[in-house]
Amino acid sequence: MKANSLNKHLGALLDPDQQIPGLISLKPARHWLLVCLMLMILPVIAACEKKKTPREPIHRQQLTVFGTQAEITIYDNDTKKVRNAIAIISKDFQRMHRDWHAWKPGALVQLNKQIAQGKRARVHPSLLSLIKQSKILYQHSDGLFNPAIGKVIGLWGFHRDQFPAHTPPPAKAAIAKLLAKRPGMDDVLIQGSWVKSRNPAVQFDFGAIAKGHAVDLTIKRLRQLGINNAIVNAGGDLRVIGKRGQQSWRVGVQHPQGQGILATIKVHNDEGVFTSGNYERFNEHAGVRYPHIIDPRSGWPVKGIASVTVIYNKGAVADAAATALVIAGHKDWRRIAKRMGIRHVMLVDESGAVVLSPSMSVRIRFEAPGPSHVRLSKPL
Ligand code: AMP
Ligand code: MG
Repeated sequence: MKANSLNKHLGALLDPDQQIPGLISLKPARHWLLVCLMLMILPVIAACEKKKTPREPIHRQQLTVFGTQAEITIYDNDTKKVRNAIAIISKDFQRMHRDWHAWKPGALVQLNKQIAQGKRARVHPSLLSLIKQSKILYQHSDGLFNPAIGKVIGLWGFHRDQFPAHTPPPAKAAIAKLLAKRPGMDDVLIQGSWVKSRNPAVQFDFGAIAKGHAVDLTIKRLRQLGINNAIVNAGGDLRVIGKRGQQSWRVGVQHPQGQGILATIKVHNDEGVFTSGNYERFNEHAGVRYPHIIDPRSGWPVKGIASVTVIYNKGAVADAAATALVIAGHKDWRRIAKRMGIRHVMLVDESGAVVLSPSMSVRIRFEAPGPSHVRLSKPL
């Protein structure tokens, strides 16, 4: 019997006007004796029912943000507190989406216009923290994570909502011309809340870090609102806090070459799992796939790596690192991961072969049938 129907049952028993079969023909004294007996037994039944089918206080809310489906999962008994938190987070997400959008009118588009004209611009605090973190991550990734290459990303036609695209790649000369101007985060100067670029070719596109930073801010907000057990998942990129009751949260990593789950990871308190890859957003033309991750050294989309998954306790760093490691590829991923302070890495190449760092290998569980080839790297 479910808790609801038990409650209904209890309500019916205690309602004096209700005619309950089996009780109507009883004499008053015996009637009361039976009711008392039932009242003693019912809490026991209720307790047993609870044990048999414990109902988890799980709340899920989907939100569309950053061109993807975000999902907040909260484990908490206080439904009112959860509803309030979800309403606040939903507004936060809308604000971030508007302020950080790379090509739709908003704070970032406005800022990009000003810096392209060589102007000093006063920036919104939420953009300022993205810029500050990006400058550090740009250096730690040896410039592979470079959100200053917005013009190159735009030239490739990746400032769009619908994927896959099917357009011819841009002219080689146009890419080379943009790249010759060497837009980089080191060109960006910050003074208080004022930002200026000494290079007008700089155009910000925070697509490789925005989800991570949004997830970090959301986790902070949840904690402020008294929620300590949750997953904030922005289209497969996520961070968790606390637990699911007595258990750790377990999450799936999408297969870069299929629809299903490649592996699952048990995520500890305050960790994030972020994946970058070539499988969702790309342009396909004349049989060639051009993924949305651009190698800033060549101005061309990455080749060879299907996806990189990292575990780290800060979303912004994990997000930027996953993107940088896709670009670093087989040759350089260990060096860049070390520089960025990342120890848990899974790299899947276009042939389907998997490379795991030793720390990742003890955390990941492959789903059947599993990859055909798995190799362990040297420790990071
Ligand atoms: P992600 O899915 O986190 O790997 O981010 C990919 C997005 O980041 C792309 O859609 C672009 O908007 C942007 N992006 C592409 N290449 C780079 C790069 N080398 N550095 C920083 N951002 C990039
Ligand atoms: Mg990223």
